[in-house]
Amino acid sequence: MHHDDPTALPLVERGALRADCAKCFGLCCVALTLTASADFAINKDAGTPCPNLADDFRCGIHTRLRPEGFSGCTVYDCFGAGQKVSQDTYGGRDWRSDPDTAQQMFQVFPVMRQLHELLWYLTEALTLPAAEPLHPDLREALRTTERLTGLPAGELAELDVSAHRDSVAGLLLRAGELERATVPRRRKRSQRGADLIGARLRGADLRGAELRGAYLIAADLRGADLRRAELIGADFRDADLSDADLTGALFLTQAQLNAAKGNTATKLPDSLTRPAHWSPGGPTSA
Ligand code: SF4
Repeated sequence: MHHDDPTALPLVERGALRADCAKCFGLCCVALTLTASADFAINKDAGTPCPNLADDFRCGIHTRLRPEGFSGCTVYDCFGAGQKVSQDTYGGRDWRSDPDTAQQMFQVFPVMRQLHELLWYLTEALTLPAAEPLHPDLREALRTTERLTGLPAGELAELDVSAHRDSVAGLLLRAGELERATVPRRRKRSQRGADLIGARLRGADLRGAELRGAYLIAADLRGADLRRAELIGADFRDADLSDADLTGALFLTQAQLNAAKGNTATKLPDSLTRPAHWSPGGPTSA
């Protein structure tokens, strides 16, 4: 049995990986590119503030995003990277009052978001009982990732985050495999990256299925059993999860849920919340 170094840093808490927009300088509303589409009503370059961003860094149309054509904003999740960059990396100095560092801050934000996304997955992997043999490696990866989040702004801006992500990906994959192996009579055939766009999977038994990176856009997953299915990077845009069971689904994020449809009968993993735009519950009819 492995023992961790008791002098090591405490592990990150999941609460720190949830967006706290009140502590953020509206970074997603400035740093990211918006492309006019069904998701965004306007075009906007990275580094240019969205015209709807108010002086207090709040969204001026927050309660009307979907009717105003900004549904993409209701899907996005920064994993708490916004408040981390605003309050820690830049010590509370905002980009309006410190324009010299503004462009660097907008560069750092997407790097931090990727690091926080990894922290989200790693903290989840550490809750999986079957992944226990990997826990020491997972803790080490978590600490390495946390250390990276604490780098000075200049180093974060230059960080090769994809190299670090690749080094963590194999560990997450193995953790997911160990957990899925505990599901009796699961689908053995991997559907990693599968084209399941518009697929009719209503009521399907997908317990323990590997759906990593699968394209489930507009798939009918009403009433599907997705317990302990591996869903990292799966594309759920407009997939219908009404009445589906996602209890214990592996590596599912809030952004994936926000992009899908569902209802109050959809069963969710404990760490995620029901999107406000989902329809009222009750079993769906054909
Ligand atoms: S519409 Fe609101 S939430 Fe979306 S980018 Fe603009 S300010 Fe941000």
